[in-house]
Amino acid sequence: MEIQLQENWQRQIAKAVTSPTELAELLSLPPSWMKQHSAARELFPMRVPRHFVNLMEPGNPQDPLLLQVMPHAQEFIDVAGFTTDPLVESEATSAAGMLHKYNSRVLLIFRGGCAINCRYCFRRHFPYQDHHLSQEKWGAIEHYITQHPEVNEVILSGGDPLMASDAQIIKAAKRLAKLPQIKRLRIHSRLPIVIPDRLTPELAKQLKATGLQIVLVLHANHPQEISALLKRKISLWHQLGITLLNQSVLLAGVNDNADTLADLSEALFSASILPYYLHQLDKVAGAAHFEVSDETAFAIRAQLLKTLPGFLVPKLVREVGGEASKTPL
Ligand code: SF4
Repeated sequence: MEIQLQENWQRQIAKAVTSPTELAELLSLPPSWMKQHSAARELFPMRVPRHFVNLMEPGNPQDPLLLQVMPHAQEFIDVAGFTTDPLVESEATSAAGMLHKYNSRVLLIFRGGCAINCRYCFRRHFPYQDHHLSQEKWGAIEHYITQHPEVNEVILSGGDPLMASDAQIIKAAKRLAKLPQIKRLRIHSRLPIVIPDRLTPELAKQLKATGLQIVLVLHANHPQEISALLKRKISLWHQLGITLLNQSVLLAGVNDNADTLADLSEALFSASILPYYLHQLDKVAGAAHFEVSDETAFAIRAQLLKTLPGFLVPKLVREVGGEASKTPL
């Protein structure tokens, strides 16, 4: 069933599907199938925008987009090595709302929430309430950056930073642009994939007008996620010279084969987005059933290198808590 979407992006967030029973109805799946798993909502709530539901195949309980968002009974299984803070981020905070893990970059926890809750999310247990970046903390952030002249790039992260309004994002970008050492503003967001209407022309134009180099790093895992609407909405961002990249997570049952990832790279490039990283799963508690072995990951990469031009093969990486950069595999 095609759900009509004629509302602005904030309304679409407010109207996300949060009930497994409703999701089952929308996808013509038996409610009993959803019920056996829905208890996992108590570990991490379910949240799926209706545009993303529209991209799923009705009647297919193994749909790769559905598997990313559907609570699953396996989330209750404790697996050795899978923890609530796999990247030890709660100890890496340099100032409330900011992480300074990488030498030349600081990462701001700009907004805590997301439009979609991905079951494999490495921050599914992150205490956003302790790290949320409030307006009052901006002075401390700016002071920290000026005391660290090696920092030339600010990353807006979350949660999802595009959950903030255009006005809030533009205000932050203008403040950062006043710091002479800052060259680039990078925004990490899944929101345009799950609600393409979030890519407002106004935000693109105003970000560009700050004079900062703007990099938008999206997060799509499967070619089905690259919709015609996304391509339409992102074309202005491309025309304005905003760098568009994508990072994916290698997920069992979703994209753990070379054909799917080759199709994803092609679909991304048709939308002017370059594949950037393919992440091995961060070992977060509740997500062990998504894990893909390194051996399988290496075989997939070898196949991709044979199939695709080099610029369409994402770098296979793993994040290791406490390491100053991503670890290539
Ligand atoms: S959008 Fe990103 S931060 Fe939000 S739940 Fe999904 S993976 Fe996690």
